[in-house]
Amino acid sequence: MNQIYFDNSATTKLDEEVLKEMMPYLTEDYGNASSIYKLGRESRKAIEEARERIAKAIHAEPNEIYFTSGGSEADNTIIRGVAYQYKNKGNHIITSKIEHPAVLETCKQLEKEGFEVSYIGVDEKGRINLEELKNVIKPETILISIMFANNEIGTIQPVDEIGKIAKEHQIIFHTDAVQAVGTLDIDVKDMNIDSLSMSSHKFYGPKGIGALYVRKGIVFQKFMNGGHQERGKRAGTENTAAIVGMGKAIELAYEHVEEHRNHLKELRDYYISQIQERIPYIKINGEPENGLPGLSNISFRFIEGEGILLNLDLKGISASSGSACTSGSLDPSHVLLAIGLPHEIAHGSIRISMGKYNTKEEVDYLIEQMVEIVGRLRAMSPLYEKFLEEEKNGTI
Ligand SMILES: *Cc1c(COP(=O)(O)O)cnc(C)c1O
Repeated sequence: MNQIYFDNSATTKLDEEVLKEMMPYLTEDYGNASSIYKLGRESRKAIEEARERIAKAIHAEPNEIYFTSGGSEADNTIIRGVAYQYKNKGNHIITSKIEHPAVLETCKQLEKEGFEVSYIGVDEKGRINLEELKNVIKPETILISIMFANNEIGTIQPVDEIGKIAKEHQIIFHTDAVQAVGTLDIDVKDMNIDSLSMSSHKFYGPKGIGALYVRKGIVFQKFMNGGHQERGKRAGTENTAAIVGMGKAIELAYEHVEEHRNHLKELRDYYISQIQERIPYIKINGEPENGLPGLSNISFRFIEGEGILLNLDLKGISASSGSACTSGSLDPSHVLLAIGLPHEIAHGSIRISMGKYNTKEEVDYLIEQMVEIVGRLRAMSPLYEKFLEEEKNGTI
């Protein structure tokens, strides 16, 4: 059976045009970009062209872009890099409760090393409270790290307002924009973003390559020792093919960004409206109308998300019960708990994230399967039986 893929927030399929542009650097053009002969110079040139494409996409300068192995490394690099650089100025970091583990776990590590971290909360739609942000700022605050868009519920944060607040207080503002780059319009200058992470495999580029933007003038400590690549900030021979692929992928993404967003939104809105119409006792999480255009997160009461996923998989459908980074753990998602869902409802949640290759026919098939699977699992659910009983007796 053909696999139908609805997990584009976890990763995306490599675009064939991207692969085509990468191929020469996996075969004939294998020179080390630090070498001065022709093969090396060609790699260097390709890398610098990719850097320009990436800078342009977010309105940054090429020398503000550092290649990393992905979003996680970019987050780690800047959060630790700023913490260690400015520890004599202050030891306080502000982040949110709904960050990706690449940010949360880095902050937890820093707490063990003596830094103080404030994890600010979010409302029921997943938006951070700007008043709370202002209130936790203190003279020791050196960094605010708030994600651009959430990977589990799709909520987009008021990044430009956070940027303004950070600027007023002269605090460095980092945003994990891994879910946003390639889909949303980003202007790091206008939005007062000092630092931003992105990852190529979330926008149809290759895996294992990402980038960190850091505004010129901001000093941070490097976290990889070795050669002088990436202006001394990230040692290791450049992955030329992947870098070239990432450059092509980001250019393609922004060439068609409006069209892309409309496509995602149309499919996502259709899915949500059909589910709402055909399945009772559900909760739509986040705020789809203002969130990432392709993402939906719905809780189906009385049943387990894992059960739905297994059944979808049997029908050839890939989806997620939260984030790929937390599946494998049985704890409910920290994001769903932060927006106030009780454990039992959080457990019954399914994230569907549309991508550019999805079609209406695929979404129709998904809807049919969801209706059938949720109905069948509920028919076997003791919780559902109890609920119906109580409803009949008027005890709820
Ligand atoms: C996927 C993701 C990451 C991690 O990126 P990798 O390139 O896989 O390391 C970080 N943050 C968010 C919000 C993500 O969605």
